Amino acid sequence: MLKGKTAVVTGGSRGIGRAIVLKLAEEGMQVAFLYRSAEAEAVALCRQCAELQAKVRAYACDVSDEEQVKQTLKAIQKDFGPASLLVNNAGITDDGLIMTMKEESFTGVIDVNLKGAFLMSKHILPAMLRNKEGCIINISSVSGLFGNPGQCNYAAAKAGLIGLTKSIAKEYASRQIRCNAVAPGFIDSEMTKDLDRPELEAHIPLGRLGRTQEIAEAVAYLADAAYVTGEVLRVDGGIAM
Ligand code: NDP
Repeated sequence: MLKGKTAVVTGGSRGIGRAIVLKLAEEGMQVAFLYRSAEAEAVALCRQCAELQAKVRAYACDVSDEEQVKQTLKAIQKDFGPASLLVNNAGITDDGLIMTMKEESFTGVIDVNLKGAFLMSKHILPAMLRNKEGCIINISSVSGLFGNPGQCNYAAAKAGLIGLTKSIAKEYASRQIRCNAVAPGFIDSEMTKDLDRPELEAHIPLGRLGRTQEIAEAVAYLADAAYVTGEVLRVDGGIAM
């Protein structure tokens, strides 16, 4: 079902987003991915995808800026035509305890992780409706399901993404547009590089961090799962059981 269709992936230059871009390209999709500043990584990924004979292009775009989102989606529409899949993956952390957290640390994390997904969805949905086809997948987190000390901003944004997911799913199900979320646990990426691995692994039932490819596989499953909408799929090694 994915072959030959177009996907838009935010935060595609590194980590989980990069694995999603590669997986969708391997599945035969054309992929437009967004990044904020990591141009060298973005160019390298486009080269790697070219070896797979996949049409993949990178666009520099801050997802928290509405004008940039609008202009980028316009450029993608021109380059690829209508997109069938949007993966809202771009995310940042800025951890701290609530009593000492600065307002800009709170709003900064909400702006990228939650408002970014809202803006991308808002501005891609009209084309999906016109095209009578669409699927949105939001990358949430187990922090959004259960909270996490030191991450009130991040957990609030990720919980917000679940509300956004279910609302979009309900608003557009009658038009055959689906919206789901993936809630990863601890995944081996730039975001988790400074965490105490042995300590963390001791708390994960499957005994290890997840691999970025394992999140990409969940995304590919949801992109193809024609009868699944409004779902939150945990991919977390059992940490949130
Ligand atoms: P990384 O830090 O490795 O990558 C983040 C990506 O988001 C980069 O491509 C980055 O672009 C992009 N990005 C950041 N800010 C913006 C912005 N304002 N506009 C556009 N792109 C932006 O993160 P991960 O791969 O680890 O995480 C990906 C997603 O998965 C995030 O939403 C994260 O919250 C979620 N997640 C991760 C977990 C983990 O353990 N790693 C666990 C649970 C959820 P650039 O390279 O240009 O800066």
